[in-house]
Amino acid sequence: MPKKFKIGFLKSIEIPLIVELGEGVRKRVKDILNYLGLHNVVILTGRKSYEVAGKKIESRISESVLSRFFVEKPSINEVRNFAVKLSYADVDAIVGIGGGKVLDVGKILATELNVAFLSIPTVASHDGIASPVASFKEGGKPVSISTNPPAAVLADLVILRHSPIRLLRAGYGDLISNVTAVKDWRLARDVVDEEYNEVAASIAEMPANLMLSYADKLDLKVIKHLEMLVRGLILSGVAISLAGSSRPASGAEHKFSHALDYLGYGEGLHGEQVAIGTIIVEFLHERKYGVGDWELIKKSLEKIRAPTTAKELSLTKDQIIEALEYAKKIRRKRYTILDEVEKGDIKIAVEKTGVVN
Ligand SMILES: [Zn+2]
Repeated sequence: MPKKFKIGFLKSIEIPLIVELGEGVRKRVKDILNYLGLHNVVILTGRKSYEVAGKKIESRISESVLSRFFVEKPSINEVRNFAVKLSYADVDAIVGIGGGKVLDVGKILATELNVAFLSIPTVASHDGIASPVASFKEGGKPVSISTNPPAAVLADLVILRHSPIRLLRAGYGDLISNVTAVKDWRLARDVVDEEYNEVAASIAEMPANLMLSYADKLDLKVIKHLEMLVRGLILSGVAISLAGSSRPASGAEHKFSHALDYLGYGEGLHGEQVAIGTIIVEFLHERKYGVGDWELIKKSLEKIRAPTTAKELSLTKDQIIEALEYAKKIRRKRYTILDEVEKGDIKIAVEKTGVVN
C-alpha cells in the first residue's frame, strides 16, 4: 500500500473494451462495429497498408464508411486538417489501419472528435497499438501526446506476420524494455515515494519476462512467438492506461532513446534504440542492486538478430555516452537508475555489455 492515499488513485480508468488477437480476426471488424453500435466510420490508413489490408477490410464495412483518409505526413497539422474536414460529419468512430504513425494520428483524431477508435495494426513495432499515447516528431523533435485508449484492438497475425522483420524485432525491443522500465518504477517507489501500481507493473513486466524465458529459441516468424509478442505489446498499452502514465513501459532506456532523438544521433527505430538502452540499464541495475540479467536480454536480441551494438545503429561510443548523460535531463521527475550513476559507471556499462568496444 502507498504510505498515504494519493488523489491519483481516484482517477477513472479506461482500457480497450475489445481486444481480438489471432489469425483472421480482421474479418471480425463488422461484428465489432455492430457490437459497439458504431455505424458511421472514417477509415484512416497509409497507402501501403491500404493495399495490403485496408482495402479488404473497407469492403467488409463499406456501408458504414463515410470517408477514407490517407496519412501522408503524420503531424498535429495533419490531425487538424482531418478534424476540419470532418467537422460537420456525424462520425462515431475512426478505424485506423496501418503502422504506428497511422494509429498515432488516429488516436489523436478520435480523441479530438470524442469518438471511438478502432486500432487495426499492420505492423507491431512498438506498444502504441493499444496505448493511450501518441508520439510524433514536430520540428525534428519528439513529442508525446496523451489520448484516449482505443475502444477496440484487432491484431490479425496473418497481417502482422507479413510485416517487415526489422519492425517486429523493434517491437520485441520495445516489449522487453518493460523489464527495466518496471525496475526503475520500483526504484522510484522506494527512493522518492512515487505512486506505484503493482497490477500495471505486472501486466507490463510479465509478457516481457515470458518472452525472455524463450530466449534460446525465439523466432518472431513462428506464429506462437509472434502472438506472444503482439499480446505483450497490447498489454503494455493496457498497463499504461491502468497506470495513467507511460511509467510501466518507459524508464531510463526510453529516456536514452528520446535523448538520441533530441540529439539527432543514429538511425535506429524506436524499439531498436530502446533495446540497446535496455541492455545498458539492466546492467546498471544489476551492478548496483544485484537484480537483473542483462546477458539474457542481449542473448534474446541476438537470437532474433536485433541490433545490440552502437555500430549497428550508426552510433559512436561518444554519442552513446552523451545520450545517456543527456537522458538524465529528460523528464527529471521520472526517477530512474540514471539518477544514481556517474559518467564513469555509464562508461563501464557500455563497455562491459559490448554495446561499444
Ligand atoms: Zn516504447
